[in-house]
Amino acid sequence: MRKYIYMDNAATTKVRKEVLDEMLPYFSDNYGNPSSIYELGSTSRVAVEKAREQVAKVLNAEKNEIFFTAGGSESDNWAIKGVALRNKEKGNHIITSKIEHHAVLHTCQYLEKHGFEVTYLDVDEYGLIDLEELKAAITDNTILITIMYANNEIGTIQPIEEIGKIAKENNIIFHTDAVQAIGSIKIDVKAMNIDLLSLSAHKIYGPKGVGALYIKKGLRLDNLIEGGAQERNRRAGTENVQGIVGLGKAIELAYENLDEKNEKIIYLRDRLMNKIEENLDYIRLNGHRTKRLPGNVNYSFEFIEGESILLSLDMEGIAASSGSACTSGSLDPSHVLLAIGLPHGIAHGSLRLSLGIYNTEEEVDYVVGKLVEIVDRLRNMSPLFNERKTGVK
Ligand SMILES: *Cc1c(COP(=O)(O)O)cnc(C)c1O
Repeated sequence: MRKYIYMDNAATTKVRKEVLDEMLPYFSDNYGNPSSIYELGSTSRVAVEKAREQVAKVLNAEKNEIFFTAGGSESDNWAIKGVALRNKEKGNHIITSKIEHHAVLHTCQYLEKHGFEVTYLDVDEYGLIDLEELKAAITDNTILITIMYANNEIGTIQPIEEIGKIAKENNIIFHTDAVQAIGSIKIDVKAMNIDLLSLSAHKIYGPKGVGALYIKKGLRLDNLIEGGAQERNRRAGTENVQGIVGLGKAIELAYENLDEKNEKIIYLRDRLMNKIEENLDYIRLNGHRTKRLPGNVNYSFEFIEGESILLSLDMEGIAASSGSACTSGSLDPSHVLLAIGLPHGIAHGSLRLSLGIYNTEEEVDYVVGKLVEIVDRLRNMSPLFNERKTGVK
């Protein structure tokens, strides 16, 4: 088989062998419904509860504060709609940021159509929100602050602990979309004053279509999915047992040797960044140099289109992204890159390479070699580049 290099780990990841092995019996032999009282049902029930403990443990949460969902998008929808509907007598104002994932942004836009008011905080050139602006945005009507832990496109990590503190001081519920942070950053929901936290299995070498919402003990929010009594009456639907088992194993493994794993990925990331910066001009690093996810690399390459770079990389057997997976195929530049102040032209020339546990130094060197060739070739074909090589470096 032809060499295939996967550097799109922020879009999704491969299920780890250990995770798959743990899941397999629940597709076949252990097929019981966790709600059934006979032995086959209880086998499934025990497996789901074990996974709940595995998730709770890494967040420093209680087992009963973890609720399984069908992924990060559902968790975000549930947290935001659930809090808004439950608290609509108290207030109708929500604070979020301009660089959230669409699962948060579109949910907020939906609520705006139903009488809620939303403040979308600006971010600086690195993608960081301003805590003073956050404080200034709070009104007597504010019921929820929802700010992502780490950004999926540019990797910027927000000051979550400080945001949690501000929310607590003002008695406002705080939700964070931690889908990208989980598995890379140590998270303590208690110490960080997090009330609600979304996570997903498929970004951490687990299966697609399963995630969880952490709901702080005592916090009330409306249900999103009505039906049976599963998840203690709060999320209906027969449990995705094999998926939940996979999520539990994946999150446990993600936090084993976390420092060692991050050290390796950061080494590869820095090597990739250094080589790109040494070999190419007219580029811009998107995101923060240090407040950044270990595996995230995102550059804008002036005078050319990110989509053209992607297609050329694909022909070389290299998988990357020109922004977020969700926006690929659309011609609008990413809302995140526009929010950090990139002009449309430069935002269009952006490329995200996201590294994971399976990437190697050899792959990094190979990708940089190909990328430099591709950027040089595309620029030589670009009238923009040939006319005005005067842009900022
Ligand atoms: C991937 C992602 C989601 C969506 O999660 P799914 O499990 O794919 O629904 C939400 N937020 C962020 C930051 C993500 O990266």
